[in-house]
Amino acid sequence: MTKITVAKGDGIGPEIMDATLDIILAAGAKIEIEEIAVGEKVYLAGNTSGIAPEAWDTIRRNKIFLKAPITTPQGGGYKSLNVTTRKFLGLYSNVRPCMSLHPFVSTKHPVMDLVIVRENEEDLYAGIEHQQTDEVVQCLKLISRPGCEKIVRYAFEYARQQGRKKVTCFTKDNIMKQSDGLFHQVFDEIAKEYPEIENEHWIIDIGAAKLADTPEIFDVLVMPNLYGDVLSDVAAQITGSVGLAGSANIGEECAMFEAIHGSAPRRAGQNAANPSGLLQGAVMMLNHIGQTDIAEKVQNAWLKTIEDGIHTYDIFKEGTSKQQVGTKEFAKAVIANLGNKPSVLKSVSYAKDTPLNLPKYQRKPSAQKELVGVDVFVHWAGTDANELASILRKTERPGLNLTMITNRGIKVYPDGFKETFCTDHWRCRFKPADDSVITKKDIIDLLSNAVAENIDTIKTENLYSFNGKAAYSLGQGQ
Ligand code: NAD
Repeated sequence: MTKITVAKGDGIGPEIMDATLDIILAAGAKIEIEEIAVGEKVYLAGNTSGIAPEAWDTIRRNKIFLKAPITTPQGGGYKSLNVTTRKFLGLYSNVRPCMSLHPFVSTKHPVMDLVIVRENEEDLYAGIEHQQTDEVVQCLKLISRPGCEKIVRYAFEYARQQGRKKVTCFTKDNIMKQSDGLFHQVFDEIAKEYPEIENEHWIIDIGAAKLADTPEIFDVLVMPNLYGDVLSDVAAQITGSVGLAGSANIGEECAMFEAIHGSAPRRAGQNAANPSGLLQGAVMMLNHIGQTDIAEKVQNAWLKTIEDGIHTYDIFKEGTSKQQVGTKEFAKAVIANLGNKPSVLKSVSYAKDTPLNLPKYQRKPSAQKELVGVDVFVHWAGTDANELASILRKTERPGLNLTMITNRGIKVYPDGFKETFCTDHWRCRFKPADDSVITKKDIIDLLSNAVAENIDTIKTENLYSFNGKAAYSLGQGQ
């Protein structure tokens, strides 16, 4: 018996959760349910995170969380419970299988069967944002080696366990050479440990186009958070309906399972919603807690029900569907099919699933890190970079010279183009002419000089080399 936390959520949440629990309990799931309240009512009662502290205790104690969609109230100040849960519990891996159910659910992509493994904690979702000048705001994109290693290993382990043949990585490392570059580099490193699994890397733009056009060429895909967020919705939608996909959020200790869609408030209380997305989440949960026989039984009964043409409104189509049913009736039909297998769609067999081998991240020995310069960011309302350069040169220290100014990344000094549009946000790079090492004190002195010259410095970024290799980007056009 495994104790799980259940939240019925908002909108269609309670209906699809009841249907899902009815099905898995009828299949013999050995679970004990502890229910908590999350979502709209909790938000509106004044809890800006949508969850009470006692509910956190329950989730942390039980470690397994099955969650229906919730409504995040409109207006500022409300934090997304999903993002908070993923980060608080360290749920680094978001796994979303997207499979078409042709010919029973209409789709332009009849042979699609892929799994998106999305990094779930880092990237632009760190939510570290600042306005720095009148014209410019910034959002920090954070990518870490542990984050990359954990998610990429998860993708390969998952592929190995599921007998999948290929893992594809999407990044934009032609532009973001440091951040996406690290993700790609780690992908190449870890891929070597799985020689039996094919691996490939695509630049995200053409990769996304291919995914939308010919998804059948992909198997398992792994990518940083933002790309995964966008593309996993695209992939789910093109199988036929977002109402059909579930997702697992996996951490080292805890895991959360859910449907990918939201609370569809307009459909609430009508016994109309499709419970399949949440049921898919529950099947992943049963597999995760080792009840693979039950998971298999539920999944095959669900596939058989879809194949029987018993469909909720969202996938009902005259001609292919046989009977349009409500949420409860759909659940009853799946229960009646427990023990049956589909005959056209491929039945599943999870019984032999071996556990994933996910060793804890081992911190690497520190590299030789040297401070080799500084980027000083300046708020300046002028337009001529040469004029800014002549002001900034007054702040130079012996051995720490202004070498470049960029505006939104493009080099505007020296030798800028007058056509380049400039904002009031300037990155001014100071380095020793001979590439030697500087000290923090040099930077402090430089900034003191800037204060004396009335220059509005908004932030600095230290320039480092790691093991002798420059670890910062050049200016575009440099
Ligand atoms: P949504 O996914 O709730 O609904 C979009 C449309 O998809 C609906 O109009 C509905 O017709 C259809 N749909 C969704 N699920 C369905 C199902 N199971 N069966 C049949 N049809 C279904 O997206 P939205 O309207 O943008 O968001 C509504 C609310 O849900 C918002 O408050 C949003 O914040 C929240 N939301 C929650 C989650 C979550 O808790 N994981 C995820 C996304 C959105």
